Amino acid sequence: MTNQNVVVSDPKSTINLAITVHVSDSSIFPTAAQKPPAAPGGYISISRKKLLKNLEINGGARINAWVDSMRASSPTHLKSTPSITDDQGSWILHHPSALDMFEQIIEASKGKQIVMFLDYDGTLSPIVDDPDRAFMSKKMRATVRKLAKCFPTAIVSGRCRDKVYNFVRLAELYYAGSHGMDIKGPAKGSKYKKGSEALIFQPASEFLPMIDEVYKELIEKTKSTPGAKVENNKFCVSVHFRCVDEKKWSELAQVVRSVLKDYPKLRLTQGRKVLEIRPTIKWDKGKALEFLLESLGFANCTDVFPVYIGDDRTDEDAFKVLRERGQGFGILVSKFPKDTNASYSLQEPTQVMDFLQRLVEWKQVSLRGQPRL
Ligand SMILES: [Mg+2]
Repeated sequence: MTNQNVVVSDPKSTINLAITVHVSDSSIFPTAAQKPPAAPGGYISISRKKLLKNLEINGGARINAWVDSMRASSPTHLKSTPSITDDQGSWILHHPSALDMFEQIIEASKGKQIVMFLDYDGTLSPIVDDPDRAFMSKKMRATVRKLAKCFPTAIVSGRCRDKVYNFVRLAELYYAGSHGMDIKGPAKGSKYKKGSEALIFQPASEFLPMIDEVYKELIEKTKSTPGAKVENNKFCVSVHFRCVDEKKWSELAQVVRSVLKDYPKLRLTQGRKVLEIRPTIKWDKGKALEFLLESLGFANCTDVFPVYIGDDRTDEDAFKVLRERGQGFGILVSKFPKDTNASYSLQEPTQVMDFLQRLVEWKQVSLRGQPRL
């Protein structure tokens, strides 16, 4: 069993990382270039005094930016935005459908080991109002099972590992829950990894009591907001806005922020109709991808071809890692143009299934030694 811990720097300075990073993340279409550079050790050093001043001045504006961003990621709003419809054509040119580009993708992977990374919500399952009912179809499960027989396959989700496992229920996969802060390999070992011990990695275990405390506090403080749902994802807490009246979004975001004020070691990030509270360690889906590649023995290999499919802003960290490594590529699941580091796009989970199915068929044919499709 491998247990490693990521060292957290001085807590007096970690608050600076948390909030300041997400100020720059709060625009609808953030780019990697906008993010401040990380200091050695993974933390950004800005004086506490300066930060607190920043919080007081910009707090309200930041809440509005989060709420605006969540509105923009709502399909109802995107459908009614003419400029986005106009941009669709040029966006698709830069992020063509992975189904249309299948032959080129296969060609690029020639002689390399494909490794698959799949987000869950909105990628393998549709986004539904009740996050507890985000089930994947039997057909999707069967497809992912076949995929895992062909390639090392990992599920990378914001949800806690147990929860996402209960949705997927495939023991042969790698699971990275809580945005990669809770990683576990296949229970019975893997044909891709030597040794019989299951891989386990939890870089933020010291934060567990604090996360529990914040979860309980958020449950209490959000009781008065109809539809608000607080989910404990073990290493992070999610506050879901999906069933909350949009008029109440700002108010709810303000409540979440006020709870977080007392926890400088935790930070707030925003996803699709969700605010998430996470430890301030520099760990995300991109780091989880790198860790898994390393665990699979591909740390310094040039013959690996990672493919990451996801629909959320948190998946951008993984897309960015692939771009920077110049290996494989990301596929964004979205019906609408979004600023992204992904190379290709798919519109919805049914298209993801079609793409995975084609990969499986291609692999099966190539294993039989027949000409590639
Ligand atoms: Mg997702």
